[in-house]
Amino acid sequence: MTLRINIIRGQDQIGGSIIEISTENTRIIIDAGADPDEGKLRSSLPKVPGLFSGEPAYDAVFVSHYHSDHMGLLKYVVDGIPIYMGKETYDIARAMSEYKGRKPGFSPSFIEAGVPVIVGDITVMPVLCDHSAFGTFMFLVQSGDKTVLYSADFRSTGRMDFNALLEELPEVDALIVEGTTLSRGPDFHEPSEQELEDFAVETLAKHKGPAVVYLSAKNVDRILTAHNAAQRSGRRFIMDELTALVAEAAGLDIDGHVLRASHSLADLGEVVATSVGGTFKDNRRASVFPAVSERKAFSSPDFVLCLTPQSLINFQKVTRRSSFKDGVLFIARRENAILKPAASAFISFMKSIGAEVPVLHTSGHADGGTIDRLIRDVRPSAIIPVHTENADWFARYEDECLVIYDCRDYEV
Ligand SMILES: [Zn+2]
Ligand SMILES: [Zn+2]
Repeated sequence: MTLRINIIRGQDQIGGSIIEISTENTRIIIDAGADPDEGKLRSSLPKVPGLFSGEPAYDAVFVSHYHSDHMGLLKYVVDGIPIYMGKETYDIARAMSEYKGRKPGFSPSFIEAGVPVIVGDITVMPVLCDHSAFGTFMFLVQSGDKTVLYSADFRSTGRMDFNALLEELPEVDALIVEGTTLSRGPDFHEPSEQELEDFAVETLAKHKGPAVVYLSAKNVDRILTAHNAAQRSGRRFIMDELTALVAEAAGLDIDGHVLRASHSLADLGEVVATSVGGTFKDNRRASVFPAVSERKAFSSPDFVLCLTPQSLINFQKVTRRSSFKDGVLFIARRENAILKPAASAFISFMKSIGAEVPVLHTSGHADGGTIDRLIRDVRPSAIIPVHTENADWFARYEDECLVIYDCRDYEV
């Protein structure tokens, strides 16, 4: 029995991931990611017959996480191919879509960590890992005596125990592994989420004014970092609507740092129910939030507010009601995200009204040392770098195993 690996796209670039794994009888796809700005037109789709066009030629599509570079093309998968993803992945993707007044465009079956899915003669085992997308799965793909591990996007700097993950993973025949940070220089090292939280607490102790955490709603771990820092600082925690929708979809559990569906939004904090530029279409959902008015929420400066780009326009009203004297604006987004004109204008504006503007960000991706630890742990016979602009970094393993830089129908 052999497993054949074909990296359809996303080996020598960061994102746009589409991976095919097959046997004689079964063909599966892992991730159907979009390139930036792709996927708005069907005609711009990559040519993958049987996946995006024609009769279905695949038995399943598995999705590692909800970032669009891994699932942005899912809505174009032809009818008749089952789609599998974690429930949190779907719930968060649905919340993001509904916020924009859209439907997700696919209806998946749900998978769970540690519960294998059998498709023909292939078994896929989801393994929960830490990434800036909540509920990200690595996949152990197995057929006969062959095993392939797909690392998805992962890191060791989140709140999950990386050693425990390594203990869970067996040795494998091939490792498909991401290398996002490997083009960021040999000294690339990122703080952990816990270090960010501690830094936020220290910073808040020096300020009496309001605090805003400018973040991506999809970054659930950062919402939790903001929440914990607010609690430790004795401040009220406030979310804008999109943050609250995503936190609810993830089932934020504020005690265990694990996210479960059983906790309600009331546990998390106040939600400022604004229409945020009119994009929040489904007003029925707004009623389930313990929402407070902006007037009440911002009447005293002892708050930490999670603010998404989607709320920027509406936020200008707040700055009229609440002085930012001795306030803080934490930048909790990637550098290229804050270079966008609207964001950089907002940051300049906040500086002009007196807010200190520290960075509160860390990468969602593994550094070289963490990738080394994964490789040493699973001892692959073949390494297939993906999601990277510096695959040459893996040349250091060429004496120990095969490194496949252009993976077309490699047979394990
Ligand atoms: Zn990615
Ligand atoms: Zn990702």
